[in-house]
Amino acid sequence: VSELALIDAIERRLRARGAGMVQGPGDDAAVVRSRALAVTSIDTVAEGVHFERSTHGPRDIGWKALAQALSDLAAMGADGGEAYVSLALPADLDDEAALELVDGMEELAALAEVAIAGGDVVRSPALVVSVAVTGWADDEAELVTRAGASPGELVGVTGELGGSAAGLLVLRARAARGAVPDARPAGCDPAVAAALVRRHLRPEPRLAAGRSLAAAGATAMIDLSDGLATDARHLARRSGVRLELSLSALPLAAGVEAVARAGGRDPAELAVTGGDDYELLFTAPARGRPALEGAAAAAGVPVTWLGHVAAGDGVVLAGEGGRPLEGLAGYEHQ
Ligand SMILES: [Mg+2]
Repeated sequence: VSELALIDAIERRLRARGAGMVQGPGDDAAVVRSRALAVTSIDTVAEGVHFERSTHGPRDIGWKALAQALSDLAAMGADGGEAYVSLALPADLDDEAALELVDGMEELAALAEVAIAGGDVVRSPALVVSVAVTGWADDEAELVTRAGASPGELVGVTGELGGSAAGLLVLRARAARGAVPDARPAGCDPAVAAALVRRHLRPEPRLAAGRSLAAAGATAMIDLSDGLATDARHLARRSGVRLELSLSALPLAAGVEAVARAGGRDPAELAVTGGDDYELLFTAPARGRPALEGAAAAAGVPVTWLGHVAAGDGVVLAGEGGRPLEGLAGYEHQ
């Protein structure tokens, strides 16, 4: 099939969504009705760096590429808007697989209520997917950056941690055992292992929670893409503060403990260094605690308070008995 035919088939799979789209895919450029502030981010995933085709199917790759980009909009408190996608396709990925990748992306786009408004397809030696997303806000005050944390405030996190890293361990164990579908690390229930795998392959960006937390008074926010240890450091640096967090407070996803132990890893270490959880880490004044918990609950996610903001710099991760742990760093893709 020619490239034009493939592009045609891709466009037929995409649905317009949202009030802002004037001209979607198929013309020379997309046309979108703007709101006051455009919030833009771009993310790229590459085979061999961010995923392997032995553990990630085409649909998973499409979903994940968009999820990662949308998670950055969630961390700003923006409304989702449009996505623009560049697909670099290797010769050994057939057109059917390319269309499945688009289907995975479109599935998440529908769930997140964003529109894939344009894109590009090229041939390439490796599979690379770039997604640029634009979110919207009406006023600067609706948005939250990484830079607003002050000493004395609380540090919270949405949802559960470590699930994605544990899911990847399960996937790798399966791949190593020749893709026996129910292969899983010892000590982990099959339904729990399946949930961990889903958590890794189909992360759901916290767009609703990001908006709610921003509106409820979060002072700084970041999404957990590289792991709590690394992303907390980014927030601390941009805010010019120190974050003091307790590892005993970590909300570990079910099964993380069993999978980590089976793989010879410490569960808390796996949860803070494992990436791809796409939860939101945020700060807020202590008096805002009920409002933030309520805002997250309204968006369908729990909040766990991990510690507080102090004067200084860096991140202290205190283990059992408050003893600080050194040398924990998140996984940085390179
Ligand atoms: Mg981010």
